[in-house]
Amino acid sequence: MLQQLDTLPDGLFDTEAHDLERRLGAPTLIHLPGEREPALFVSVLLHGNEPVGWDAVRSLLKARLERFGTLRLPRAMSLFIGNLAAATAGVRHLPEQPDYNRVWPGSQLPRTPEHDLMQQVVDIMEERGLFASVDIHNNTGCNPHYSCVNVIDNRYLHLATLFGRTVVYFMQPRGVQSAAMARLCPAVILECGKVGERHGTEHACEYLDACLHISALPEHPVPVHDIDLFHTVAQVKVPPELSFGFAPAEADILFSPELERFNFRELPPGTALGLVNGRGEFRLEVRDERGMDVADRYFHLEDGELRLKQSVMPSMLTRDEAVIRQDCLGYLMERYNDHVPQRD
Ligand SMILES: [Zn+2]
Repeated sequence: MLQQLDTLPDGLFDTEAHDLERRLGAPTLIHLPGEREPALFVSVLLHGNEPVGWDAVRSLLKARLERFGTLRLPRAMSLFIGNLAAATAGVRHLPEQPDYNRVWPGSQLPRTPEHDLMQQVVDIMEERGLFASVDIHNNTGCNPHYSCVNVIDNRYLHLATLFGRTVVYFMQPRGVQSAAMARLCPAVILECGKVGERHGTEHACEYLDACLHISALPEHPVPVHDIDLFHTVAQVKVPPELSFGFAPAEADILFSPELERFNFRELPPGTALGLVNGRGEFRLEVRDERGMDVADRYFHLEDGELRLKQSVMPSMLTRDEAVIRQDCLGYLMERYNDHVPQRD
């Protein structure tokens, strides 16, 4: 199922994400040589409708070829191009597929052929050795560009702050690429804003270029004034049996049209997320890092509105109805700068 290549197929960097399946046929791991080893591992298109990673990589390669006449990189790069079929269809994943960023080693989902595919990628990379790992995504909703880590460690935080000062630490969901790779090397996820924003592609491209040029990730602490570290405390879902919408519509809950503006803002208690129809039995599914239902800790119904019970900072809140159903409504976070290591 996995295709491995040692060179970039001719003109591949002129191929749009939705045409990659036609060119490559299967999920593909491409090893590109460089001046330094071991390689930087980069994964793109784990979500088929998030082309920023592929667009950043191909613009980096194309620029280097035009400028230097060769694809030779300052450091070797192993590029994993994930869900080509979903990219063709322009969706996160096909209905019959699992989410390609929930099936890496450590996944708690029932075993699928995709689990074996990701295990194979990890095994190959472990054998070859890695410098660092970068998994690149778009997201929905109004979010700043930020990175995520699954391990609090100076080298990982340096890799993260190279992208920007906003860093999110999370442990759930399981089975993500970054958590699997974090066992082998410093690993981050980049969240590069909405699809089609040029700044997202440019930012990711500059970041990859910087990663390819550094000789080592520092072991010393990240100065606490250089980082805004947040910790994801809960994931918020709309239970499948309940309907939702955005005004004007008829549904069990009408979410605020301002929902996406709440991201990365500290919201006070009493903030309304939406209007509830019916007899006050509406409940979101809110699960903490251990999978416990903590809905009553964060939300309550008051005057027909779903309101925050305590101050909290959301991320990735989205109005994209397909994402809400396939993934989640968003996440709740707390500030975590107290946990940035300040001694070696
Ligand atoms: Zn994604």
